[in-house]
Amino acid sequence: MIDNTGFGFDDPAEGATRQATVTAVLEYISSVLNVPGIADIEFQRSQSDGSGFLAAAGSLVSVDGDGFKGGFTFDHLTTGVDPSSTAPDGNVTMDFGWPWNSDMGPTPSNEIDLYSVVLHELTHALGIASYASSTGGSKIGSFNAGSGIFSTYDSFLQRGSTGKQLYLAGGVINATSADMRSDDIVFAGPNATMVFGSAPPIHAPSGYSSGSSISHWASSLLPEPVMLASTTGGREGREYLGWEIQALADLGYPLSGQVPDPDPDPDPDPDPDPDPDPDPDGGPMPDGGIDPGFDGGTPIDPGDGGTPTRVGEVGGNTSTLTGTCSVHTTKGAPPWALVVLGLIPLVVRRTRRS
Ligand SMILES: [Zn+2]
Repeated sequence: MIDNTGFGFDDPAEGATRQATVTAVLEYISSVLNVPGIADIEFQRSQSDGSGFLAAAGSLVSVDGDGFKGGFTFDHLTTGVDPSSTAPDGNVTMDFGWPWNSDMGPTPSNEIDLYSVVLHELTHALGIASYASSTGGSKIGSFNAGSGIFSTYDSFLQRGSTGKQLYLAGGVINATSADMRSDDIVFAGPNATMVFGSAPPIHAPSGYSSGSSISHWASSLLPEPVMLASTTGGREGREYLGWEIQALADLGYPLSGQVPDPDPDPDPDPDPDPDPDPDPDGGPMPDGGIDPGFDGGTPIDPGDGGTPTRVGEVGGNTSTLTGTCSVHTTKGAPPWALVVLGLIPLVVRRTRRS
């Protein structure tokens, strides 16, 4: 379970706190979703360079034909059937060279909130992520001209002003390069739309940013949702807004019905564990949730019996701190591709205002 590196999640001073924080995030997600399955999320050996990305998360997706895909994490959680006995559904890599707020206390302005970042990255893995490229085609690939492999999230994308759907049934591409830069894309999932009051706007700036554009909510939104394209030191986003939870419902996740709050006002108390189940052993979904494995190395799903293969490489685009969250895709062994989500999620303010 632990590589005993003495660093990161093994840090003698902070490691246990960091593990507890990740566990709290997983418990929060589990409290939001009401799913029969688990997800195998592998925490790979942490980075320590303190440059480039702060955290990255990935999810596998089937490369078996054009159309809309939920990804392995979604499939495993919602069906209870493990898409692969050898590979995890997704993975996370942290860079503990950055100054982290490891615990659940208030985050100083010169630190990055671990809870918020882990929640953000895992939410990409859950499916808040586009597979669209800068031209509107598929980053994953395509089997036929005019269509490609896209995410379920992509199936809800529209031009805000015209209602033009960007991707049609079967992964048919109706998007253009101009759409990707239009600052006029919305997520037209019916549940999110109802609670938000209109279709929530998507981050689609004229200056296209690979991996950041299209896979986050518009940066102008207030109150701030969890899935913003950038954030700052001291910022905390420890709870989904009500309409963000409904976006997960639009992707196909059954909700617990206890956490969703139709009031878009954020709860000022980021209690990560609302303890929705007073009887943890007797709940209707004893296997629900996502199991963490720290620093990788061991199977997370005890039912598999197999050792996860590390598919693909989490990384890339690590040279500069761009202040955005980047979504990359890496071809894994067929028939999978590893969708690496959430590189460079934050702007770090190292200076403190007095
Ligand atoms: Zn992100």
